[in-house]
Amino acid sequence: MRQVYLDYSATTPVKDEVLQEMLPYFTEQFGNPSSLYTLGLTAKEALEKARGQVAALIGASPDEIYFTGCGSEADNWAVFGTADKLKEKGNHIITTKIEHHAMLHACAFLEKNGFEVTYLDVQADGSVRPEALEAAITDKTILISIMMVNNEVGTIAPIRELAAIAKKHGILFHTDAVQALGNVAIDVKDLGVDMMSMSAHKIYGPKGIGALYIRKGLRITNHMHGGGQEKGRRAGTENLAGIVGFGKAAQLASQQLETHISHCSELRDYLIERVTAEIPDTYVNGSLEKRHPGNANLTFRYIEGESILLMLDFKGISVSTGSACSSKSLEPSHVLTALGVPVEMVHGTVRFTVGDFTTKEDIDYTVEALKEIVTKLRALSPVNSEKGW
Ligand SMILES: *Cc1c(COP(=O)(O)O)cnc(C)c1O
Repeated sequence: MRQVYLDYSATTPVKDEVLQEMLPYFTEQFGNPSSLYTLGLTAKEALEKARGQVAALIGASPDEIYFTGCGSEADNWAVFGTADKLKEKGNHIITTKIEHHAMLHACAFLEKNGFEVTYLDVQADGSVRPEALEAAITDKTILISIMMVNNEVGTIAPIRELAAIAKKHGILFHTDAVQALGNVAIDVKDLGVDMMSMSAHKIYGPKGIGALYIRKGLRITNHMHGGGQEKGRRAGTENLAGIVGFGKAAQLASQQLETHISHCSELRDYLIERVTAEIPDTYVNGSLEKRHPGNANLTFRYIEGESILLMLDFKGISVSTGSACSSKSLEPSHVLTALGVPVEMVHGTVRFTVGDFTTKEDIDYTVEALKEIVTKLRALSPVNSEKGW
């Protein structure tokens, strides 16, 4: 049976070039980068080379990149590190209702500990109104965190404009760029962000390695206490093979950015066009213009997204409902709810995300499968288009 993977926003396969780069660091080059003999120095060189590759992808200098265990850790560090550092100055944080749970749950934790958090509403296309951000700022605001690209609906936020508002008020600005990395051009200096979260496994690198960009000169509280790794700010012997893989993946992402974007957006648009034209009562969620190149978030009215997901899986097609992290709960997606999608439509939503290994044949196979599945499910559905909800 054909296997079609359409969940690149959940994770990506490690590219072969990346794996080949990583392999020696598990075996011959197993040294600890902190050791002073040659084996350690070789490891240290590989570590710094990778730091440079990640920095180059986002227009940062290498000493502004701090490796973490994952994207979630980078988000947590940005929030907790800032909250702790600036707690004398204020206790107010501004974020949005559509952030990843790594941000939302970190903020919820702070709320239990004396902080106040404003969760900004978004518009129907998933965008934050700059005026809404401006209006939420108080003299107690110490951090604004707004994601660059949403993981469920793919909306791209106007980060430069939002970061400028933070700067005008002297407030630190963090962005979760995990979905943006490798999918949109990023220049941290041009954007004017103070901190930015990244993760390797969303850009064809390995799982279990991420990074936080911290602008030069900015001090937030150190994250992990122990040895002097990451300039003493994040202790723990480095995941060297993971870091080397992240570096290689970043280098490839940088070299292939344009071809990646055109390949993905072409297939994404083809999928959206065929589905909305050939299957009645289907809708696209999120912005059609400012959108992640691989994201198609589609609602199929009158049926359950979970049923579609399972029936697609029988045909070898992998998709998700909501995000991978919340798909095991029956809670309606917080993102679609914030976009104002009616609850019965939220339940009929499936996220398709294409990537570098997706082909036109994969999309054709998926559309044919969808047509069959949706017809079958709607015939079974107690609430079909004639009866209404
Ligand atoms: C995947 C993801 C994360 C979490 O990254 P991990 O490396 O899996 O912890 C955070 N934010 C967004 C937007 C994501 O898509």
